[in-house]
Amino acid sequence: MNNWLKMVLSAAVFILAAAAAGQPVIFEKALSPRIASYDIEVKLDAETGILHGKETLYWRNASSYPVNELQFHLYQNAFRNTKSSFMKETLGSKPETKMKPKQYGFIDIESISLATGEDLKAKREFIHPDDDNAEDRTVLRVPPPKPLLPGQVITVKIEFTEKLPEPPFARSGAKKDFFFVSQWFPKTGVFVDGRWNCHQYHSHTEFFADYGVYNVKMTVPSKNLVGATGIEVSRMDNGDGTATHFYHAEDVHDFAWTTSPKFIEFKTRQNHVDIRLLLQAAHKNQAERHLEAARLAVKYFESWYGPYPYPNLTVVDPAPGAGGAGGMEYPTLITAGTLRVMPKGVRAVEMVIIHEFGHNYWYHLVGSNEFEESWLDEGINTYSEIQIVHDIYGAEGSMVDWLGLKADDLQIRRYSYLAAPNLDPVIRNGWQYYNGASYTAMSYSKPALMLITLENYLGKETMNKIMREWLARFSFQHPHTRDFITVANEVSGQNLDWFFDQALFSNAVLDYAVSSVSSKEIEKGKGYDFDYSTDKPLPKFLPLKTEESDKASPEKMYLSVVKVRRLGEFRFPVEIEMVFDDGEKLREKWDGQDIWKEFRYVKPKKLVSATVDPDKKIPLDLNWQNNTRTAEQPPLEKKKGGYLELLKFALNPQ
Ligand SMILES: [Zn+2]
Repeated sequence: MNNWLKMVLSAAVFILAAAAAGQPVIFEKALSPRIASYDIEVKLDAETGILHGKETLYWRNASSYPVNELQFHLYQNAFRNTKSSFMKETLGSKPETKMKPKQYGFIDIESISLATGEDLKAKREFIHPDDDNAEDRTVLRVPPPKPLLPGQVITVKIEFTEKLPEPPFARSGAKKDFFFVSQWFPKTGVFVDGRWNCHQYHSHTEFFADYGVYNVKMTVPSKNLVGATGIEVSRMDNGDGTATHFYHAEDVHDFAWTTSPKFIEFKTRQNHVDIRLLLQAAHKNQAERHLEAARLAVKYFESWYGPYPYPNLTVVDPAPGAGGAGGMEYPTLITAGTLRVMPKGVRAVEMVIIHEFGHNYWYHLVGSNEFEESWLDEGINTYSEIQIVHDIYGAEGSMVDWLGLKADDLQIRRYSYLAAPNLDPVIRNGWQYYNGASYTAMSYSKPALMLITLENYLGKETMNKIMREWLARFSFQHPHTRDFITVANEVSGQNLDWFFDQALFSNAVLDYAVSSVSSKEIEKGKGYDFDYSTDKPLPKFLPLKTEESDKASPEKMYLSVVKVRRLGEFRFPVEIEMVFDDGEKLREKWDGQDIWKEFRYVKPKKLVSATVDPDKKIPLDLNWQNNTRTAEQPPLEKKKGGYLELLKFALNPQ
């Protein structure tokens, strides 16, 4: 049988099997390993905000180890009380009394058993693998009666009750009749390398999960609209004021949904992707902006990086006061966020939609571990976002171009990096960064600046090939930082370890400075000459001839000296541009290995200025203020004060 026939037949078998099971089919062939699949029926009591869920989990032991227990994330317990690790990290020293009762949420497991009937509830146990907080209830361990052998599938039935925080302050939550339901169902961790990777929910961590198939039936007030991961299969009015919306999703690693009676629905299409927008009435006049941004996002990501395999995308605009649910990514569903008045030149709507859609590539298709290597998602995605908005809007006003005010996305990311450039290396567990500013700098800004630096170094085409290869090779897998470096090395045909070692694994900063520029007319030397010809009793007192003065004749000659310094430990090749008074520009290259480098010129013209990294190809450079110096400026090292400073020091030694 040839491969083509094999493929057609296996697809046909799959479709028939799925049809026989009464399940809809999106893809003819599984795109992912489908390790954790869920059937969930959930009912929302819109009055109390309580959700009741019945879940069936199909979990396959895809490892080569026996598995002795299952581990589940119970994310909503992060909001259970002020004793959770999430709350302790978020609230810090803030008084607990600031939290109103409504702001708490929880999830309780009512029952948990095998499909075959064995009860698992008695042996369940909360664990806290990341810290010593025994009060944290976000990870549950459940041992099945017998170890699960490699290849075996376990079917677990769970009933749960939960309440979402109001208003949402960390992604999920409610606001009056608006509900954004994410991180909401008992969800397995990832069993990898012979152990569970199932971290607690922290203030600065996101998520990690296996792929699977989801069939989710959501029962909500019949006047409500629903948006969810996947495609809507059916909608049934229950005749009791409620309706059940059935959504199906394949090869996704999470499922989020939203409901509200107040959404206004808009539709558009880009390439093969059906785009649906659920907008707040107050933002109706911004519908086209949202739709256009979503179209641009799909267009750019598909053409720059590779196909988006899903048939649709839903964009959700959170209700007023529910901003905590905004600006977040889920498989095939993203949340945006805007204000009643949002001038066109302030591109917050565009930015957030392009960014969150990008996550469907770098968090969803490439299933990296956001707890442990957040840069693989947020950093790569921020890099994509900056490059795309530069391409659409131009660099200068890529973020704001309004009333003569301009701001560049790249510059804004630089400020965020500069706020905490060396408190941590990029590679660090999400909950272990020095503080929130360092998490943001290391997960979003620094890696984005690093990748732009790399793109400028390798060229756009090579960098684009790297990104395409990264997506193609690691879609539906759980790659690590080392895998990214391997792809970069292979595609570029060079060993870039020296770059990534500094940028990702060290807290070295990069800062080049032109430290001094001088340009002086060469005077003829004075003194006795070296003329030892026979009949002279004494050497003549003459202007001396020197190598430099020889060249000087007959016009005025100048000796120009430029010193460039590497002020940080990060070594990176750089260019220096010298500008002379007749307009001549001269470029030099420096490998940046030494601590400083000198350039000397003898020319019949004066040097005016020198600039290190004149094209701003290295946005990782901590300080752009010291990149240019003129011959008029004193050297970097020249301290003000002179003797006065010395005197002060002498009187008050430290
Ligand atoms: Zn993000």
